[in-house]
Amino acid sequence: MFGNRIRLFRVAGIQISADWSWFIVLALVTWSLSNTFPSEEAGVPGLSPPTYWLMGLVGALLLFASIVLHELGHALTAQRLGVPIRGITLFIFGGVAEMSDEPPTAKAEFLVAIAGPVVSVVLGVGFLGLAAAGGVAGWPAAVVAVATVVGTINLVLVVFNMIPAFPLDGGRVLRSALWQWKGNLRWATKVSSRIGSFLGLALIALGVAVAIGTGELVSGMWFALIGLFVRSAARMSYQQLLLRRALEGEPVSRFMHGEPIVVPRAISVADLVRDYVYRHHYKTFPVVEGERLVGCVSTRDVRELPREEWERQTVGALAEKCSPENTVPPELDAMKALSLMNRTGRSRLLVADGDRLLGIISLKDLLKFFSLKMELEEAA
Ligand SMILES: [Zn+2]
Repeated sequence: MFGNRIRLFRVAGIQISADWSWFIVLALVTWSLSNTFPSEEAGVPGLSPPTYWLMGLVGALLLFASIVLHELGHALTAQRLGVPIRGITLFIFGGVAEMSDEPPTAKAEFLVAIAGPVVSVVLGVGFLGLAAAGGVAGWPAAVVAVATVVGTINLVLVVFNMIPAFPLDGGRVLRSALWQWKGNLRWATKVSSRIGSFLGLALIALGVAVAIGTGELVSGMWFALIGLFVRSAARMSYQQLLLRRALEGEPVSRFMHGEPIVVPRAISVADLVRDYVYRHHYKTFPVVEGERLVGCVSTRDVRELPREEWERQTVGALAEKCSPENTVPPELDAMKALSLMNRTGRSRLLVADGDRLLGIISLKDLLKFFSLKMELEEAA
């Protein structure tokens, strides 16, 4: 979901990014707002088309700022409670403050979850108040209309966000209550994400019903899309919790393959491809000089080298030096190794103690362990 993000700016040390999908939404919101303003209900008929477009754009940008403030509410509260924040990503249905860990207690979870909606309520009431004051003071109708729309949408977003479907804010509030009640985070997550998954399905059904019943295809599609999003997010966050639970506290040495196949640094790249890559079908090999680990070489590096260089270049010249990006110590937490793989896109990491190679750890092995553990726990 966070594959194609674009960095925007930083607030209080927190990086704000946007998923590419979000720019489409910005354009869509501008378009639909500028089409709403000319209607009778919006109260500003008879303005010029460029004015409506400008109102739409300003409204969309104010909504964007509102969403950033909502997420900052979550993020700053989390930071205060000692949960590190990786950043805020805006995407199709708003934003996500990415916490690198679960909140430590049910109470912290509740405070982090409720902080966003509190910000939205303040913004909603604030903009509506501004609109009312502007109406009395005789501000231009266009300004009053934009403030009214932004205030109203903020309040609508609060209602949507408070649907008790994990991982929406309401679902997090529900989870914190369940967590507080039974003292079991895993159970609380399971129940609240099941409810989330069910509500997602209900929204999809509602979307179809609206589309068929009233002929409002666009509204129906929105409901169905939101339902799909809620459903997949609910499932994913439960899976993530299980994965974290399964791997956390386990050292990578438990999952590594000892005595991996190593490549001497002096051989040519052509020999590497013929005798190692095609024979063993691995994507990454440790490179050694005698007993000493000097780096690693991957098919990715080979691909970047022109074919006519393969005979001439040695593996040593092509290999990447060992770094914390590709080599981990044996005592490292397996969950950390997984997030490193996630971040760097490497599916295999070397495990080494200084320049002594101990083994290799692969994404496949971590996931295999996880699915076995789940299978056995499900049976128990
Ligand atoms: Zn929120």
